[in-house]
Amino acid sequence: MTSTNQAGPSRRTLLQYVGAGSVGAAALAAVGPGGWTSAVAAQRIIPRKEWGFTGWQAGGPPAIDKTAITHFVVHYHGQTGANVSGPQAPQTVDRIHKADPGNAGILYNFVITQKGEIFQARGYQFKSGATKGANDFSIGVQIHISGSTRPTAAALRALEWLYRNSHRALGKERALKITGHQDHTATSCPGGPLNRWVDGRGQELVREMAGELGGGQDPQVPPFPGRDAFQLGKSHPAVETLDRGLIRKGFTKNHDGDGYQAGRTFSRYTRANVRDFQLAQGWSGSDADGYPGPETWKRLLS
Ligand SMILES: [Zn+2]
Repeated sequence: MTSTNQAGPSRRTLLQYVGAGSVGAAALAAVGPGGWTSAVAAQRIIPRKEWGFTGWQAGGPPAIDKTAITHFVVHYHGQTGANVSGPQAPQTVDRIHKADPGNAGILYNFVITQKGEIFQARGYQFKSGATKGANDFSIGVQIHISGSTRPTAAALRALEWLYRNSHRALGKERALKITGHQDHTATSCPGGPLNRWVDGRGQELVREMAGELGGGQDPQVPPFPGRDAFQLGKSHPAVETLDRGLIRKGFTKNHDGDGYQAGRTFSRYTRANVRDFQLAQGWSGSDADGYPGPETWKRLLS
């Protein structure tokens, strides 16, 4: 889902609401005998032209900046009609997203079905529109299930394959972080069963990938740019880096009404969110004035 509420409980709090117990016998039965073996053998990305994509609207989506991508964000479909497979899955999502004339079309980079099919949506070509506040640095992948449906083994194999493939396709030397939509904004997406995958196998997969790539999974903290980079109303590239730290740590409550997004201008909202982060460290007085010093920078970006 692509809901965009800004404030609310953390992912793990929400996990308690949607929690275990939603996985029933029907979901377990969806894993057919030997189903995933054939899916792995046939693993590939099904291009837009093969699933009946009807073209972009509203001028088309912006190009992706591959070098900026650090996150692989998992979503569910979450709506009536989920759990279908075949071209109908991406077609449905595209139709829903195009109902908003401001949307170029399907917001995800990929859609994966319970049969393990991987459909190209925005692919590695266009920027995701699925994860507000994180689209600049993530690709968004939808598993076409409702929130309580357990993903099949075939769907999860496809997800793993796509995660690994994304490093080659995007030219990544470091492992992409795996997160759920819920890690970036208040939403129940991707639901209990997928959240458990993100927390468990997903994090294990990141460690495996980091090992295979021979690098760490955590980008080094960039050097502190100096206090002059953060002046109210002024722009500096470091502000965007700072904003990404605020978004990842969940300090985004202050914004202009359209959600807090990374940008180069140090606004009063940036300052207020930094101040919230500083207060959360137990600091006060000039240590919590909303202007980042080296320690704030280090803590926000590590
Ligand atoms: Zn979502």
